[in-house]
Amino acid sequence: MSEIHGPDGLPYIPDDLTVAQFMLDSHHPTRPIPKHPRAWLIEDATGRQIYYDEIRARVSGLANALKLRRGIGEDDVVCIFSPNHVDYPVAIWAIHRLGAIITPANPSYTKDELEYQLNITKAKAILVHPANYAVAVDAARTLGISPDNIILFDPLPDQSSRSSPTIYDLIADGLSQPPSYVERRLRPGEGKTKIAFLSLSSGTTGRPKAVCIPHIAPIANCIQMAYASRVNEEYTTWEDRRYRPGDVELGVLPFYHIYGLVVIMHGALFSGMTLVVIPKFNFTEMLKSVQRYRINHMKIVPPMVVLLCKHPATRDYDLSSVKMVMSGAAPLSAELIQQLRERLPDSGIAQAYGMTETSTTVSWPNLYQKIGTPGSSGLLIPGAVARVVKDDGSLAKYGEPGQLVVRTPSQALGYLNNEEATKETFKDGWVYTGDEVIINEQKELYIIDRIKELIKVKGFQVAPAELEGHLLDHPDVTDVCVVGVPDDYSGELPLAYVVLSADAQARVAQDPAAADTIRAALIKHVSDHKVRYKWLTGGVEFIEAIPKNPSGKLLRRFLRDRAKELRAGK
Ligand code: AMP
Repeated sequence: MSEIHGPDGLPYIPDDLTVAQFMLDSHHPTRPIPKHPRAWLIEDATGRQIYYDEIRARVSGLANALKLRRGIGEDDVVCIFSPNHVDYPVAIWAIHRLGAIITPANPSYTKDELEYQLNITKAKAILVHPANYAVAVDAARTLGISPDNIILFDPLPDQSSRSSPTIYDLIADGLSQPPSYVERRLRPGEGKTKIAFLSLSSGTTGRPKAVCIPHIAPIANCIQMAYASRVNEEYTTWEDRRYRPGDVELGVLPFYHIYGLVVIMHGALFSGMTLVVIPKFNFTEMLKSVQRYRINHMKIVPPMVVLLCKHPATRDYDLSSVKMVMSGAAPLSAELIQQLRERLPDSGIAQAYGMTETSTTVSWPNLYQKIGTPGSSGLLIPGAVARVVKDDGSLAKYGEPGQLVVRTPSQALGYLNNEEATKETFKDGWVYTGDEVIINEQKELYIIDRIKELIKVKGFQVAPAELEGHLLDHPDVTDVCVVGVPDDYSGELPLAYVVLSADAQARVAQDPAAADTIRAALIKHVSDHKVRYKWLTGGVEFIEAIPKNPSGKLLRRFLRDRAKELRAGK
């Protein structure tokens, strides 16, 4: 097997449009309805429906005010630090209209984590949800970001405190003033290099890095996914497509992550669907929303599939509107697909695969089949090309395992200010995914293991190097290696193998109960500074020495296997 190509016939991908122009202004041939007769967004809690014209006007107002009042312009980086919100896309596209860049941050981040992201991306302004305001103000102060450049999505509950303006204030202001900005237009080809997003990912090794995603990447991915989703060989009318106007998409996965940002938000809106925007995941509330808004498409992660299969509430709601459940971001077992099929017999069920560095989708279920082949992550999407590379560097045959290496029009440019990591993952135009896969003769992709260091907890990235660096700051720790242990619900849980300092070892020698105290202190050291899914819920194990190869590289796989055996009770 040499290279495997996704299907031919990929429609034209514009390389001279910003994401905002593509979404709001373009009459791309794959998108025959320029105006949307139905609501584009629905705010889950209130049922408020927001139409294309209103969104477009809000984008113009916000862009105008951000230029006029905050001086946001070419290549300034603006951080969005918020749960899902109906103004999330408005903020993105307003910033793109000014030629500026978005860095979306996890709204659950602690001050340290947000500060890290703001620092590596050199963000100049923060758009923040009221619930995250205190953390944003704190981080901004440390980094010297002007308090004037913190803008709220909604008013703070306590109106008496001095606070920042809201997006609403700025939009009203911007719409009342003559245009102060010149729409950023791209030269032919410039979409391939002009950065739209800086999304965080740890890649194959090390701490989280900012992935440079050019404008063409999400545009390409929307077109690739839409083309891959045609329901017959045709692709000319909406009837030929699985995702189309009138369909309703669930918007519960976080927009800050590449899956929520590209596949759900941009993918749904590009297809003219209505997106129900849900700020926070709560299983029964989500089922209520599916019933209330007659949601047709659920793009979710494996722990949510577990709940759909096992939670008794699933039977209490009418989920008959659901036409397709798609799982991504982490592996989904064949057993779960089977169980979900029993729960939702009328729905299609399948898995897709992608990553931040390919923003996003690389493979997509074969939608001619109602149920994706269990365990498979589908077929390459049009425009994507794959190689499966064995350890010795040769190319694998069909059915043989190896690292997946891909080339696709949606791939990122590299990591911001990190040439070394860029060279490791982005080589000669190919992305080295760090995932071990098999492609069979039917060209179906199976993700069988992760070669890279990355741990995924409920689909969220946990970079072992980040936790190791943090644990090494603790005086009781001399050396450490963090690995993932399998977990039925979360996929994996972080576990730390720790070599204690001489002092801590002496305390344990004197009183064995000290081991538990130290263990609890290390767990707290992480939970005090890191977002919940990074906590050491897999445990802390003490070890005499971290196994390393002669050149000093951690033998991570060895410890990962050992942790697996430990948890399996061997
Ligand atoms: P992220 O950049 O956070 O989207 O993480 C990308 C990584 O998630 C991939 O490199 C895989 O390791 C994992 N991943 C994504 N989709 C799947 C899937 N369908 N099956 C298994 N692992 C997946």
